[in-house]
Amino acid sequence: SSGAPSYYRVLVLGASGVGKSALINQFMSSENNTSEDPSGLDGIVSVMLDDEESLIELCNFPDEQYPAEDINVDAYVVVFSITDQTTYKYAAHLLKYLRNDLCSDRSIFVVANKTDLVRKRTVERNEARLTASYYNCKYVETSASLNHHVDNLLVGILSQIRLKLNPD
Ligand code: GDP
Repeated sequence: SSGAPSYYRVLVLGASGVGKSALINQFMSSENNTSEDPSGLDGIVSVMLDDEESLIELCNFPDEQYPAEDINVDAYVVVFSITDQTTYKYAAHLLKYLRNDLCSDRSIFVVANKTDLVRKRTVERNEARLTASYYNCKYVETSASLNHHVDNLLVGILSQIRLKLNPD
């Protein structure tokens, strides 16, 4: 492939306890992480897609804080727990803030995490999906604990970032 890999920054946002660290840890140990020393680069994964390597820095944003600007950000991941309405409402506030106040047109992924806790579910899939599409975001359900759909999410984030940079 051609030259140095592209470098992208992804902010991971959401209420405390929704699984942001767990997701990032799964990204780091993903089979898609072709980094030669995965433990050496904290929060940075190397992903091969369409024969092209990209480095993706995953920044765990401080809980309950809003980013002040979206300079140097290529995508956002807004996480909530399907077992906790409060974290869903907080995620919806974050989406509103990013789109309406920050006027961000970056790719945003809404991640409904903890899908393994089926019987504790209190956030309906259709409602969350509707909120995501209202704010023009991708919607993904994951279980960081079971590593379910986490790899798809990582590749999806990279695809969306590339699509925005090269629309044709
Ligand atoms: P953070 O505060 O958003 O970074 O959340 P953490 O990653 O520290 O996770 C908070 C708690 O939720 C920990 O006890 C995790 O083990 C647990 N957790 C994270 N993801 C999942 C998941 O997908 N399913 C379940 N059952 N627990 C999870």
